[in-house]
Amino acid sequence: MPPLDLPIGLGTSGLDDPETCTDTVVAALEAGYRHVDTAQMYDNEAAVGEGIAESDVDRDEVVVATKIHPENLAPEDVRETARESLGRLGLDRVDLLYVHWPIRAYDAAATLPAFDDLRDAGVTDHVGVSNFTPDLLREADAILDAPIAAHQVECHPRFQQPELRALADEFDHDLVGYSPLGCGEILDDLGIAAIADRNDRSPAVVALAWALDCGTVPIPKARGDHVRENLRAVDVDLPEAALDAVDALEPGDRQIDPDDAAWNR
Ligand code: NAP
Repeated sequence: MPPLDLPIGLGTSGLDDPETCTDTVVAALEAGYRHVDTAQMYDNEAAVGEGIAESDVDRDEVVVATKIHPENLAPEDVRETARESLGRLGLDRVDLLYVHWPIRAYDAAATLPAFDDLRDAGVTDHVGVSNFTPDLLREADAILDAPIAAHQVECHPRFQQPELRALADEFDHDLVGYSPLGCGEILDDLGIAAIADRNDRSPAVVALAWALDCGTVPIPKARGDHVRENLRAVDVDLPEAALDAVDALEPGDRQIDPDDAAWNR
């Protein structure tokens, strides 16, 4: 299987209304996105799958990624619920299957071989991990037969993940940046607003163009006109001074915390 080399993706967390979710996926694929990110936890795999089916874009042109819920990371649950995800998505395989978070039922020695089994069985083409620390990443790399194709972590101008970006280069996997707009916070960030004004770009485009320039794969969640606006970042070359200014922003807090209520459902 050739490496993934992921393009910018559409995040779908929070697209809870099935009709909106399906319409957004169709609009994104028609606008040019070729990577859609969902998860068992988002409870929208069926609506995402419907969007993929409804769109005129050939399924084989689209990277479809989903994630196994932390409660489902015991090996037998990984095998069973991955197939249930395929059923909801209406697909016979996904391109990328992630460990969503190494918590709850996660046990590296037991969980990861089940991901290898799913790859061998053709349920997924590639195996990914999400929210891993450097130590957990090294452990997973040692256990898995499959190469880690992607590591998905929070990454945006106020949470730049230099260590995990360097590790992605070392391991030669894609670093997929979730919450690339800081869950929307980056759009009101005064530091980003100043850089956006100076360069006559929107804050969203600045954040996403920066993410792409540093070799990460942002997966902004968006609806309506935002879907197309975000894709513009692909064609934007920010001047060196703007990229340096983003690099130099003070780090802030992460937006996503596994102790949040959403994780305790
Ligand atoms: P995000 O993409 O950083 O921000 C989404 C917010 O930004 C939404 O409120 C959206 O509003 C708004 N927005 C998007 N484009 C905009 C634009 N051009 N102008 C103004 N507002 C804009 O946050 P996220 O949803 O947390 O992260 C993105 C994806 O990452 C998720 O959907 C999910 O797929 C993934 N994720 C993964 C994990 C994990 O543990 N692996 C955790 C969190 C997220 P509208 O919807 O109104 O456009």
